[in-house]
Amino acid sequence: MRMLEVDELNVRYGAVRAVRDASLHVEEGELVVVVGANGAGKSSLLRAVSGLNRHRGRIRLGERDISSVRAERRTRLGLCLVPEGRHIFGRMTVMENLQVARWGAGSRRSDEIARVFGMFPRLEERKHQVGATLSGGEQQMLALSRALIRRPRLLMLDEPSMGLAPKIVAQMFQIIREIHESGTSVLLVEQNARMSLSIADRGYLMETGALSGGGDAGEMLADERLHETYFGKN
Ligand code: ATP
Repeated sequence: MRMLEVDELNVRYGAVRAVRDASLHVEEGELVVVVGANGAGKSSLLRAVSGLNRHRGRIRLGERDISSVRAERRTRLGLCLVPEGRHIFGRMTVMENLQVARWGAGSRRSDEIARVFGMFPRLEERKHQVGATLSGGEQQMLALSRALIRRPRLLMLDEPSMGLAPKIVAQMFQIIREIHESGTSVLLVEQNARMSLSIADRGYLMETGALSGGGDAGEMLADERLHETYFGKN
């Protein structure tokens, strides 16, 4: 089954066309990455798919057309975004952050929290610590856990590697790979092209709002033309 289908999506901020006629899809169980430089429009694309940005074009989640469905409802239908910058509650403890996510998901099951602690033992060790004092990597784990508690059908991740030390970046990609291997469909946007393509099934390239590619991630990784522009620093 096709989990997500985006057709001719457009996002504008006044005169700026941030996303231009972008089409992409994610099959059930697939990990798809959109790579692109700063300002290419990756966040705008994910925010539009989440319903957080006004947009034109068609978006389907599974069998359902969600193009005019509001953001909260899209989340309840199984589309979860972990935004860039993490957006955890800084004054609440790790445990409280997770409890809020669980209530938001309408679940009272305490085993959902135990499940994410199983994935991120480090968070369990820090469950009484307030969010703002966590390291960047721990905050990213917490943001990801809050989404996982909802058991999303499609998990969307906006630059999960941003601001993290290289060793933590590698751990983060390993975790994303495990989430994907456990059966969750994932749409990832990243500047870190090399790492993200190395864990993805397929990849798209985003340049000044337009998407291209959509082919095998391994082939993109081997494509000489992408090396100079996108693989230089990573
Ligand atoms: P980054 O990796 O730097 O976050 P990105 O690929 O996610 O970049 P976007 O944040 O989607 O890119 O931005 C795409 C374009 O739209 C940029 O030119 C940006 O300046 C512009 N833009 C983004 N948000 C707004 C806004 N709220 N109002 C006006 N322009 C915006």
